[in-house]
Amino acid sequence: MAQVIVVGAGISGLLAACFAAKRGYQVKVLAFGQGALTVAGGIIDLFGYDENGVLVTDPLAHIAKLQKPHPYALMGAQRVEEALEAFKTLTAEQNYLYLGDGHHNQKVPTAIGSFKPSCLIPPSIDGSYAFDCPKIVVVGFNLLKDYYPRLIAKNLKHFFARSKEVEVTELMLNWPTGKEYRDVSALDLARELETPIGQLNFVTQLKAKNICGPDTAVIIPPILGERPELSAEIQTKLERELNTKLIEVSSIPPSVTGLRLDHLLRRACADLNIDIIEKAQVVGYTGIKANAGEDAAPSANKWQVQEKGKCLSLITGGYGREREYTADAFIVATGGVFGAGLVTTMGRMYEPIFDLEIKVPEVQRDWSHKYLFCGQPQPFAAYGVSVNEHLQPIDEAGNVIFHNVQFVGRSLRGYDFCFEKSGNGVAVTTAYHAACELEHNLAAYQAQQKK
Ligand SMILES: Cc1cc2nc3c(=O)[nH]c(=O)nc-3n(C[C@H](O)[C@H](O)[C@H](O)COP(=O)(O)OP(=O)(O)OC[C@H]3O[C@@H](n4cnc5c(N)ncnc54)[C@H](O)[C@@H]3O)c2cc1C
Repeated sequence: MAQVIVVGAGISGLLAACFAAKRGYQVKVLAFGQGALTVAGGIIDLFGYDENGVLVTDPLAHIAKLQKPHPYALMGAQRVEEALEAFKTLTAEQNYLYLGDGHHNQKVPTAIGSFKPSCLIPPSIDGSYAFDCPKIVVVGFNLLKDYYPRLIAKNLKHFFARSKEVEVTELMLNWPTGKEYRDVSALDLARELETPIGQLNFVTQLKAKNICGPDTAVIIPPILGERPELSAEIQTKLERELNTKLIEVSSIPPSVTGLRLDHLLRRACADLNIDIIEKAQVVGYTGIKANAGEDAAPSANKWQVQEKGKCLSLITGGYGREREYTADAFIVATGGVFGAGLVTTMGRMYEPIFDLEIKVPEVQRDWSHKYLFCGQPQPFAAYGVSVNEHLQPIDEAGNVIFHNVQFVGRSLRGYDFCFEKSGNGVAVTTAYHAACELEHNLAAYQAQQKK
């Protein structure tokens, strides 16, 4: 059984680990910190807007027309579709359903009272009833931080051109937190709503307001439980008792919907016997790059390396102790600048584990448009590691640098996730593609060595 090491425990790393383990590989994850799921929504945006900012109605059809180096173009639309199905199967196995498919963008309510397009979403965030019903009630909580029900209601009124009745109400939280101890977050409320007393408090207060009913969509912060396996049950129970439809907004930090997915993926890893080694920051590797000169000495290497283009091991550091992890293949899922998978200094961007240079304009001013919100993709957002169709890192001439290394998720070049709304979509689909391509990459390298 070939051994695979995944670096990074964000959505792309945890999923790559699960998909590889499902294909029979023995997998370890080297994790340092949590990924962007802690702040981002647990929804899978595939492709929301084209390069002109126009809403994409059929994301998979649009993806089929994209050009390389966009990660979707490297994989092909069919692989992308397969990956979405594999994701839905994996989450369903953990008793958490995702609605939707790659051909439709669904409408997800946001914390500013707009709707954003996303392909795969949990039922609690499905905003479609808000379009169908005549009345919306936006519920806030007196001590909750970073959630503004009046702003949401104002923007919803505007969005629906005043064709619906939109009301705002506030429920009272009587906690020491939020008054003098610390702020109350949606995560506190999600934990509270997992308890019978929290549910009773919510139902009693909302019923007393007399503003909900079967014709009403009740917009709430993401509070229907922290644990993914409980959230559908909590939603059904509260909706039955209130005789109304509850809809969560996608996320406010800390992201409860993202944390649900994070918990789910870690449980799936445990079920698949994947070892997650925490506090393991990868700081280097042993091996020789395929494009290294003849006199190249392997970095930090105690072995005599015969084979060029093969990574032999990864080195973890931190807290003064180095450890070495060997494997047959390595999947790097370390994220972008946010996750520290890419590092920038003045005029330079690089990938720090393998010291891969990222091609950027010499003049830093040219990395971005003058205005952040200019209605166009930002150049800097698309900078990242160049890979081929098998997700192996390549140099400027297109030559593979390491045959047994793959990059997935946010560290990849060629897409602006924020503009096109494709963040978790690229993470999910490249994770799946990497697992599928492992066999090809290992076999191709062995064949080349025999020549
Ligand atoms: C605020 C925000 C909101 C977003 N909202 C959405 C949304 O609504 N929908 C959507 O689809 N996408 C959204 N995204 C995008 C989405 O979150 C990212 O595209 C996705 O999380 C990328 O996943 P990743 O696993 O590639 O990287 P990350 O989530 O960044 O994970 C990388 C992991 O690798 C670890 N790591 C880094 N270096 C090392 C190392 N040397 N050794 C070991 N570990 C290391 C990091 O600590 C981190 O845990 C949002 C992003 C942000 C920042």
